Amino acid sequence: MSILTSIFGDTSTKIIKGIRPLVEEINGLEEKVSLFKNEEFPLETQKLKERIKSGEKLDTLEPIAFALVREAAKRTLKQRHFDVQLLGGAVLHRGNIAEMKTGEGKTLVATLPAFVNALEDKGVHVVTVNDYLARRDAVWMGQIYNFLGLSIGIIGHEASYLYDPAHQDSKAETNSKQDPLDTTRDSLGGFKVVHEFLRPCTRREAYAADITYGTNNEFGFDYLRDNLEYEEGKLRQREFHYAIVDEVDSILIDEARTPLIISAPSGEAGDLYRVFTKVAEKMNENEDYEVDEKLKAITLTEKGIDKAEGFLKVGNIYTEKGMKLVHHLENAVRAKALFKRDTDYVVKNNEVVIVDAFTGRMQPGRRWSGGLHQAIESKEGVKIEQESRTFASITFQNYFRMYKKLSGMTGTALTSSEELYTVYGLNTVSIPTNKPIQRIDHNDFIFQTEIGKFKALARRVKELNEKGQPVLIGTVSIEKNELISEYLKHSGIKHEVLNAKNHEREGEIIAQAGRKGAVTIATNMAGRGVDIKLGGNPSTPAQYEEVKNIGGLFVLGTERHEARRIDNQLRGRSARQGDPGETQFFVSLEDSLMRVFAKDMIKNLMGRLGIAEDQPIENRLITRSLETAQGKIEGFNFDSRKHVLEYDDVLNFQRGKIYGRRRNILRGDREAMDGFIGELSKIEEDASIKIASKKTELGEEKFYGALGKMLIQAIDISWVDHLEAMDYLRSSVNLRAYGQRDPLIEYKKEGLRLFKDMEAGLERQVYDAVSNLNSDPNSTIQNEPIKIVLGDVSESGHIGRNDPCPCGSGLKWKKCGLINSPEHKK
Ligand code: ADP
Ligand code: MG
Repeated sequence: MSILTSIFGDTSTKIIKGIRPLVEEINGLEEKVSLFKNEEFPLETQKLKERIKSGEKLDTLEPIAFALVREAAKRTLKQRHFDVQLLGGAVLHRGNIAEMKTGEGKTLVATLPAFVNALEDKGVHVVTVNDYLARRDAVWMGQIYNFLGLSIGIIGHEASYLYDPAHQDSKAETNSKQDPLDTTRDSLGGFKVVHEFLRPCTRREAYAADITYGTNNEFGFDYLRDNLEYEEGKLRQREFHYAIVDEVDSILIDEARTPLIISAPSGEAGDLYRVFTKVAEKMNENEDYEVDEKLKAITLTEKGIDKAEGFLKVGNIYTEKGMKLVHHLENAVRAKALFKRDTDYVVKNNEVVIVDAFTGRMQPGRRWSGGLHQAIESKEGVKIEQESRTFASITFQNYFRMYKKLSGMTGTALTSSEELYTVYGLNTVSIPTNKPIQRIDHNDFIFQTEIGKFKALARRVKELNEKGQPVLIGTVSIEKNELISEYLKHSGIKHEVLNAKNHEREGEIIAQAGRKGAVTIATNMAGRGVDIKLGGNPSTPAQYEEVKNIGGLFVLGTERHEARRIDNQLRGRSARQGDPGETQFFVSLEDSLMRVFAKDMIKNLMGRLGIAEDQPIENRLITRSLETAQGKIEGFNFDSRKHVLEYDDVLNFQRGKIYGRRRNILRGDREAMDGFIGELSKIEEDASIKIASKKTELGEEKFYGALGKMLIQAIDISWVDHLEAMDYLRSSVNLRAYGQRDPLIEYKKEGLRLFKDMEAGLERQVYDAVSNLNSDPNSTIQNEPIKIVLGDVSESGHIGRNDPCPCGSGLKWKKCGLINSPEHKK
């Protein structure tokens, strides 16, 4: 045990010790609440809500609230929260991660902190790994919440619902055979899960409920969608008050590296690039544009702009179609002036391939962003690839860090407790099982070849199958599923194959994996969250006893995963709730983990012993060295996730600032708008006079109405451009790393500069637009980008973005770091 794990272990014990008296207190209240009549429960809930409103602390209500939930569960589900479940609930309420083994009943545990925190009337989010589980858990636990008088929303991928038992009377005409929830009726062990209890509703209604169930994806995307809305009434979410994340390791660790992105094909026609390539060909250096090699930047001159306008036959390229034309023009000129064939890129197989500036290596598949790559493709006359534009993005890490209080539960967190602590500040608390664990984990069997492994595996499955012991075979991929299925077919073993394509069916199959004689092949992740009951689901006591007496579920792993956590997850499918069960991993020297890490040592050993390919060796030492290898890879992956986060933090700060401002404006907050335009008098001396006269001209109502819409558009356009610029920066700082500079520091520095640039640009856009405000607020809204005027010196007579900064720094105005400083106002 490392020092860190023992420290976490200590914290765990301490937290649990602190909570024990609470469990006693809740138990002490059991008799009192058992005397309440059914109809009194919603009233009791209301009373608690009132007490919160009048200033009482949530924590003082915890004991009675837990006691009410337990009583509600007893009366609705006929299940009484075990003491360890109360412990788990309290750990969650305190904003920690509760590690509770598979089958310990985490779904039920979540009802305790969900109820307590819902009393504050700011919403509670319960996050699941898939839509199927969100619906299952909401409908299942909805009975408890409903009994207590709370409303439950579900945000699915396709639709949103409110849990509403009264709705069953209306007998929706949906064909119940087709409804996925119907298949869960049995898997849940006889709970009444009726889809008619779900009433379709809007997203906003689902979020307005006391407790909302949904997947991490839907919560995250709704956040992004909200920040693209143009009307306050369309916002879906309310506060980020409290979240309980189920299977928290899967969501906060396994999925942490992939950000959520809302994007759309930019729809840029290749033609436009071709036109601008032609325009750029006609432009001359030092006459129509100037080059800054170091910054890899070009600046168009007045003459150049006139020339381009002439070619394009547009009056003012800066006001025509917003920034689009300017953007194209700049890219085309950059492609011509700064990007050299066979130095910066090569043309290979009719494609433009980036060449790493420092190593000279080609980087196929990577593309310059913001339309630059297309401009170069156009210049080279090769096919122009379509690119999509990012409108909004966020990582799960940053999404979940927005919650005022965050908690999570899983069967397997302890091996990742350090990461969960450093990244999210979450303590992992290991909760004891309700009954002692009876599982037998056999040592790994190690084979020389993969074929040897599969042959031996098939033999083993046959043996187990003959005595009727159910077997669950875990694999690392769908491909391997199919391969193993072939081996089993060959040996004449009847089996089910799960392929992680359909969660509903998956849940149904896996729920039956504990039947006598069942053989099920599944990827490690498949059917996560679904209970495997011995004897089948539902099972008669006799069926259950029969399987129990043969030894329970046998889990066979066919490869070690990179993370021990995932292996543990698989093992945990067996021997739930004090049942018997066995697990064993079959590995081969050809498995990727082995190839990379422990191969030589083991191969030598096996060679010396002269072992046949399908004969295993079983050795505690080897198993341990495999686990050490896993530990190393875990560390490596942790570092790489931390790295992603460090970069994302830069953008996260900026996103917070921009979205915050946007939200205030959307809400019609006049102060926020005034604050925004107040900044203008930096740029423009008579700005405040102009603004004041506009206000009088239009009247406040109209003025702010139009201003708000305009501000939001301006923010959106600038932000999307900025995202692109940051993306570009991200790839370019990595190139700079070869110059001995820390790319992250460069990224932070440049990122800040770009952000300030964007803000300055934004202010200018707003200034120009305010000047043109008219009383028809619709004239500037939606989809039709506002006209943006940037750096157009001749027309406006203001400072252009490319002009030298008047502060005397010698930098261009747009590049000057002093842009937000008091000196700048001079
Ligand atoms: P986990 O998510 O921890 O793996 P589940 O929430 O899926 O576990 O629950 C596993 C099974 O245990 C379910 O069938 C559930 O009904 C049952 N269960 C949970 N808590 C209790 C309880 N207090 N009393 C009886 N059965 C329970
Ligand atoms: Mg679960």
